[in-house]
Amino acid sequence: MRFQDGDRVCIIGGGPAGSFAALHLLAQAEQRGLRLDVLIFEPRDFSRPGPAGCNRCAGVLSSRLLRGLNTLGLHLPDTVAQSELHTYALVLNNEVVRVRQPDPTRRVVGIYRGGGPKHFLNAPSASFDAWLLSQAQARGARHVPARAYLVTQENGYPVVHSRQGRYQTAFLVLATGINSRPPLDASFGYRPPSSEMMAQDEVLLPPDWPEGEVRAYFRTLPWLTFGALIPKRNYLNISLLGRHIPRDGVDAFLERIRLSLGAEPLEKVRLCGCTPRVTTGVAHPVCGDRWVAVGDAAVSRLYKDGIGSAFYTARAAMKAAVTHGISRRSLSRHYALYCRRVHWDNRWGRALFALWHFTLGTPLLLRAWKRALLREAKRPQAERVHERILWGMFTGDEPYGRLFLLAITPTAVWRVAREMCFSGEGDL
Ligand SMILES: Cc1cc2nc3c(=O)[nH]c(=O)nc-3n(C[C@H](O)[C@H](O)[C@H](O)COP(=O)(O)OP(=O)(O)OC[C@H]3O[C@@H](n4cnc5c(N)ncnc54)[C@H](O)[C@@H]3O)c2cc1C
Repeated sequence: MRFQDGDRVCIIGGGPAGSFAALHLLAQAEQRGLRLDVLIFEPRDFSRPGPAGCNRCAGVLSSRLLRGLNTLGLHLPDTVAQSELHTYALVLNNEVVRVRQPDPTRRVVGIYRGGGPKHFLNAPSASFDAWLLSQAQARGARHVPARAYLVTQENGYPVVHSRQGRYQTAFLVLATGINSRPPLDASFGYRPPSSEMMAQDEVLLPPDWPEGEVRAYFRTLPWLTFGALIPKRNYLNISLLGRHIPRDGVDAFLERIRLSLGAEPLEKVRLCGCTPRVTTGVAHPVCGDRWVAVGDAAVSRLYKDGIGSAFYTARAAMKAAVTHGISRRSLSRHYALYCRRVHWDNRWGRALFALWHFTLGTPLLLRAWKRALLREAKRPQAERVHERILWGMFTGDEPYGRLFLLAITPTAVWRVAREMCFSGEGDL
């Protein structure tokens, strides 16, 4: 089962995974002199502000993703990049520990997926998803502005049903994310990945907010795992991850961080608000004869860099399809393996977050670790192990496995152990 010249490919979903799939597929096909008719089904108008035009996310792009964009010859326009993020300020028991961008090549950028907050100032923001979809169209993909409400299989071929008509296709790409019901019928046997709920909102950026600084909070409330404040031009995005986030979770969080910091209240006028899900597991299966799932519909890096995962799963899937064929067997061998590797790396991620939470809950260890971090700041950048681990964990630009192994190297362990045994000695 291989692509034939002139074959039609239907991509369901025009978020990052769908647009990346089209861009990779068209690039791979061109290299082999193959002409494909690529259709992207996407009903959303990404230029609209608020949840209607938005694929609901904090919008932090990792350096891993920005490097990936360059390989496709894409450069993020300045109008789409809302902020350059170069510092993560970790708020730990009312103390702030700053982790800075290790080097200029590890650029991290804030964007809006749609037209920005529902209640915007002056004009809606430029949308990342709209820009990406326009790039896929510029390279030959066709946008069908309709929802695919059902996909069936007839005579071994997937058939997409939408209000614009029925489309039989040589190959189907499922890029519907985790926040909508997948349209595949039972014959595909597809089960979406597991997911967790998050909460988001936007407020106006306080005038004295340090430029390019993300603030991260942990366990400030019993249900909160992680809370982040991310500056984006005129606004501050609030993203919360936790177990059973209550309805008034964002209000409770804003109130708590005001109390714990003793700071001025953040602007209380909330400008948007949503409770989307984030992918935490892997779909089963991720492919079959003439179809494949990519992005959140397949697997994603745990908690960070989901857009980067959309890029890399789409690249692996399209390369496997063009190079090795579109049968279940060859896609399983050449693509499902990649998804399993991401899923395995997430296990290291869970171990790393468990270590992090153990540190947060052990005052002696936390103090020693903070001192180790402060002492490291005097060393050259390349020798700052703990800073590199934190930057990689919070921005998603290094695999969790590598970061975990780094965390248990003798150097990293000794630096913390030394502070535990000889705490109080030496100036910081
Ligand atoms: C609160 C929160 C914060 C996050 N923050 C970040 C972050 O800072 N950085 C980061 O990299 N990732 C982040 N993520 C993860 C990121 O949002 C996802 O990993 C990413 O959006 C996945 O892209 P996707 O294209 O697979 O899915 P989506 O972005 O969800 O896109 C799916 C698209 O498919 C369309 N669609 C769905 N069903 C159909 C259908 N039947 N027919 C046609 N079209 C359909 C939808 O309209 C949508 O446009 C966050 C997630 C959450 C929940």
